[in-house]
This record gives sequence, structure tokens and C-alpha cells, in this order.
Amino acid sequence: MTFSQYFSGIFKGIGSLIKGMRVTIGVFTEKKVTQQYPENRDTLILPPRVRGKLVMPHDGNNEHACTACGICQMNCPNGTINIVSEMQEVEGKKKRVLVDYFYNLGQCTFCNLCVLTCPSSAIKFSNEFENSVFQRPKLQEKLNNTGSKLRDKKVTSKSAEADATDSTEVKQDEVAPTLSLEDMVDDKGILNENYKTVGQMAVDELKEKDRRAAMAVTSKEDKA
Ligand code: SF4
Ligand code: SF4
Repeated sequence: MTFSQYFSGIFKGIGSLIKGMRVTIGVFTEKKVTQQYPENRDTLILPPRVRGKLVMPHDGNNEHACTACGICQMNCPNGTINIVSEMQEVEGKKKRVLVDYFYNLGQCTFCNLCVLTCPSSAIKFSNEFENSVFQRPKLQEKLNNTGSKLRDKKVTSKSAEADATDSTEVKQDEVAPTLSLEDMVDDKGILNENYKTVGQMAVDELKEKDRRAAMAVTSKEDKA
């Protein structure tokens, strides 16, 4: 190694060190985004779209919006949802009624398909994320409250929203009118075409929202 090669190596090393330090100092002066969890547990604010675990909101009358149609169970890609229902005579008509709604948190991939395809907005994801347990069977949960029943179809979204006091402390953004199985199937018991597209419509709606948000950002940038 020549004398000049020796010194050029040293200068290259110093240059590289300065480059790295510039990045380090830049990050050091940026606004901090790292949260000191669990120290900040009391003040922790999670983004609203965080998917902690699936819940079924109930109102103050211990009523939910699940018609036990089974669509969420059918759309779940890995058998996380297990719905137990029975036929009961309600006002002279035989109707399917929810008995138990089982959800296995240990299997859930949080894909949200069940929520998107539910025609009654009966389920949603809560922000509750501290879900560790010591025994795997404890991850199996029953989402419907004991003694709960289906909310009356005629309940308007506003009045239901007014007294909604969800036992899981999750407020429903909107309580959609419930669809019964009769609304979704034809005389032969086959799902009607409109209903089949509910999931796709929900996905399209989300895409449209994203598209509009992107357009808003672009127009802001153009104005600037
Ligand atoms: S109403 Fe919604 S939550 Fe209840 S079974 Fe149907 S899709 Fe699932
Ligand atoms: S989020 Fe996905 S995996 Fe979890 S229960 Fe719903 S459909 Fe199944």
C-alpha cells in the first residue's frame, strides 16, 4: 500500500462516518413517534383502524344486530367463526335465531372480511389489543351476551345509537337496520344476487374512499 492510498482510505472512512452521523443527527432532531409502552398505557391512543379483536356490540337492552345468517362464517378464510343457531317461532313465523357466536382469537388473521360482508353491521373490530393468555382455549370467545336477542328491525339507527352502551365499551359508528335471512334468500333458499355482492360493495366503497383521499392530497399539492 502506498502512502497516498493509506491516507485516501482514512479520508474515505471519515467521509462515510460523517454521512452516517448526518442521518443519525437528522433522526435525533425529528419529532419522536416511538411510544414508551407499557409505561404510557393510561394515555395510549391507538389509531381507530387498529384491529384488536372481533366484538359484537350490544345496546342497553342487551340486543345485538346479528341475524345468524352465517355469512361471516362462510367468508372467514380459516374457520375462526362458529355460529350456533336454531329455528324458533317468532310472531307466528319460523326464524333463525342466534344461540352462540364463537370466535377463536388464536386463529384470526384480522383480515376484516367478516366485518365487511356482514349485512347487518353486527360485528366490528375493537382496539383492544392486550389479548395474551396463558392457555390457548381461553382465546375462544363467545361474542353474544348471555340472554341477548336480536334488535328489532324497526329500531332506527339514531335511536339505537343514542342508547347504545356496548358491554365491550365499543360504540357502533352506525347501527344499520338488520336484514333477516328471508331478506337475503329466494323461495328456494338460495342467496339472492344483491346479497352476494354486499361484500364486494363494501370493498369497492373502501377503494372509492381511498381514491378520493388520494385525489384530495393531489389537489392540495397542486394548489401549493
Ligand atoms: S348478521 Fe353478521 S355477524 Fe351475524 S351471522 Fe350474519 S354476517 Fe355474521
Ligand atoms: S378477521 Fe378474517 S380471519 Fe378473523 S374472523 Fe374475520 S374473516 Fe375470520
